[in-house]
Amino acid sequence: MADCIFCKIASKEAKSKTVFEDETVIAFRDLDPKAPEHILVIPKKHVESINDFKESDKNLAAHILVDVIPKIARDLKISEKGYRVVINTGDDGGQTVNHLHFHILGGRSMTWPPG
Ligand code: AMP
Repeated sequence: MADCIFCKIASKEAKSKTVFEDETVIAFRDLDPKAPEHILVIPKKHVESINDFKESDKNLAAHILVDVIPKIARDLKISEKGYRVVINTGDDGGQTVNHLHFHILGGRSMTWPPG
């Protein structure tokens, strides 16, 4: 989408600190990190939110959850101590960028419940 900052990152029109990339997914460091490790994992194609994942996106969703996120956590060495994966969705969910993204937060102990 023309005005979407994460589409621009996916197409390299905008810069990011990329930690992982393949054909369908790119992961990069959050500009304003909320933990010592804060990575955003996005599908390269524009999907507005998890509400907009379609039947045909099942392989992509599984790829992100089964392959990409655990690999990044291993690479960052936060697998064993633990980390949090967050998908903010819509206004009440606190979503500020309308391109689906999975936050990976780690490197410190998290509290619960979230604010
Ligand atoms: P959310 O509030 O779940 O929509 O999260 C959006 C996240 O994107 C925030 O944590 C922002 O700090 C982050 N963000 C926004 N623009 C950029 C950017 N250009 N590069 C990296 N992270 C960004």
